Amino acid sequence: MPITQAESARLQRRTGMAQDDFAVDNDGVLTLLNNADTRACVFLLTDSADAQAEGLCSVYEIRPKGCQTYPYVLDTKDEAVLDQGCPHRSQFPDPPEDMAFTLLNLEERILREGSSD
Ligand code: SF4
Repeated sequence: MPITQAESARLQRRTGMAQDDFAVDNDGVLTLLNNADTRACVFLLTDSADAQAEGLCSVYEIRPKGCQTYPYVLDTKDEAVLDQGCPHRSQFPDPPEDMAFTLLNLEERILREGSSD
């Protein structure tokens, strides 16, 4: 999950973790790390590596915007769609009308930060 610098700073403040412990810089885009054992986000409380397993987000109140908008993602035409990789996508309605705008804004912020280094 890509995150902004501000979201990283908030996660560091609230968890006491160093950025390197929860995110990696992928070509200028900060991305949440996965736990080596569970293969899920480092903030997901779960013991299972099964993608269908139950889990709780340990930073739910301050989770990044991309987490809040998931499983809505942009397709190749920049339209908001349900992520085909999400096993729970059938439980979500079609994307709200303004979702593409929200996702494009988020993408622009993340990419702008990456290109300003
Ligand atoms: S919602 Fe929480 S556990 Fe899920 S990807 Fe975001 S930070 Fe990680």
